[in-house]
Amino acid sequence: MRIKMTDHEHPAQHEILLKGLAAAPGIAIGSAYLYSKEAPSVEKKKIDAGELETEVQRLRNANARSEKELQKILAFAEQKLGSQHAKIFEAQIMILNDAVLMGAVEKRIASELTNAEFIVTDEISKYRRRMLESPDEYMHERAHDVEDVMHRIVRNIQDQRLFSRLDVEAIIVSETLTPADTVIFSRNQVLGYATDLGGVSSHAALLSRSLKIPAVVGLRSATKHVKTGNMLAIDGYAGIVAVHPSEETIQRLRQKAQWFKEFEEKLVGMADLPAETQDHRTIELSSNIEFADEIQFARVQGSAGIGLYRTESQLIGRGGYPTEEEQFEVYKKVAEGIYPHTVIFRTFDVGGDKLIPDVVKEENPFLGWRGIRMMLDRPELFLGHLRALIRASSRKNVRIMVPMISSLQEVRSVKEFVRRASEDLISKGVRFDPKIKVGAMIEVPAAALLAEEIAAEVDFLSIGTNDLIQYLLAVDRDNSYVAPLFQQFNPAVLRTIKMVIDAGHKKHVWVGMCGEMAGDPLATVLLVGLGLDELSVVPSILPEIKKIIRSIKYKEARRVAEKALSFSTADEIKGYLSSFMKERLPEIPLDL
Ligand code: PEP
Ligand code: MG
Repeated sequence: MRIKMTDHEHPAQHEILLKGLAAAPGIAIGSAYLYSKEAPSVEKKKIDAGELETEVQRLRNANARSEKELQKILAFAEQKLGSQHAKIFEAQIMILNDAVLMGAVEKRIASELTNAEFIVTDEISKYRRRMLESPDEYMHERAHDVEDVMHRIVRNIQDQRLFSRLDVEAIIVSETLTPADTVIFSRNQVLGYATDLGGVSSHAALLSRSLKIPAVVGLRSATKHVKTGNMLAIDGYAGIVAVHPSEETIQRLRQKAQWFKEFEEKLVGMADLPAETQDHRTIELSSNIEFADEIQFARVQGSAGIGLYRTESQLIGRGGYPTEEEQFEVYKKVAEGIYPHTVIFRTFDVGGDKLIPDVVKEENPFLGWRGIRMMLDRPELFLGHLRALIRASSRKNVRIMVPMISSLQEVRSVKEFVRRASEDLISKGVRFDPKIKVGAMIEVPAAALLAEEIAAEVDFLSIGTNDLIQYLLAVDRDNSYVAPLFQQFNPAVLRTIKMVIDAGHKKHVWVGMCGEMAGDPLATVLLVGLGLDELSVVPSILPEIKKIIRSIKYKEARRVAEKALSFSTADEIKGYLSSFMKERLPEIPLDL
């Protein structure tokens, strides 16, 4: 979070910038509606035998009303989104009509003489827990649907009405949104969504993309900073929300909206064009994703493959690691989905700020048992993980990338593990790509200094600027107090990037970048000029980055990079790049 003073006389009106995940592209400016939907509270109550019939009837009435509500949402979703997306609501109706489930609920109400809302919650929660234990990401999303249905039934048993109408245009701010909320609000005058929780591939995010309603998710603290009626501006391209936006911010976002409107009109046909400079240097422009169901969006945006697939997303919502078979199913789906393009799977990057199923208490988790360090300490787990990845390579479009490398020894150990995993598969007669490429992420300063030695032993390097900047500048990537110090244009960062690129090229391996910096339009010309071969970015920003690449000459970008490298402060570099962009590509909207 960054706080900018916009009005010195009215400090209450500080502009607050919140950074989240760009879930659905678009710009929205308007007043906020804080939507808080608490889970209905359920108490366990005994009932008399004489009340049994009424209690069962309450349940049946609630189910009937829930079905009616869902049928309405379904019809609306079908009309607005098409039957494919509306299927979620059909599935919810099926849960309501599940005779086995509802039969079990009614039986328990009778045998335990307990109130309907308690039994229905208890029974459906069991169902939901089983789904959350499944390794399948799809089942996890379904588990949320089950929870949504459960709340709907309970609310109807308790005769509670849910607010779902907006009388004026508003941006919905909420801790989280269900698919049903997303669709219901879209009937009204919703301008956009901003949520504390959620990932870009949650159903609510997918639906808002289909509904063409800008959305930013994963903001963590939006509901704390925003009150109903506050002015908000949301940038669904960059994943930024401005609370009490300044005039300048509003102006910039309006321009950005206009630019995108014109740009999108011209976009038709651009998805298939290469990210090539005017003097014919091609940059591999690919996407960062976490879930298989993002592939479709990445493809539509014109992505030349997946440059970073964060496999640790598979650990969300579960207590342990998925089995080799469970992992393989996901990797196979991704590899097939992106074929004939390639996918770079990053091996589990657990620890630090990320999920870790093992219970470990560390004083400094970012300097602790993270990424590859942990995998190398868990040989069986790592071997199974690698086997699952290698098995998905039968169509030769899979690459493996290793996070948090800090020494050459680690690279050698990884390669030894890859060899062992491959041998296991050969002995079982499994088909796979024997030349599967293995690359190292450069995100620890030691790895940057050793880039030449590392490059000599791997097939590619990918610079992870999120961590590289954190470790190089000693600035916690998640700490808002030091956020202004997290400077991607710090000369030390630029020089390190240049060193890594040159080291990789010296050893004839390609060098890419998959950290957030790769998706910052202000950095594109510089990064191309520094010689990067690949940029992997969030899919929503990809067309803009492609447009920049296609508008410049490599020769020109090299000059920009050279000039940028000559400065000694981040401000000078940023200032230089901003004025270059304003002069040379004034139509490109830059981030806030
Ligand atoms: C990075 O560190 O730049 C990176 C891409 O990985 P993550 O953000 O997942 O740590
Ligand atoms: Mg990282």
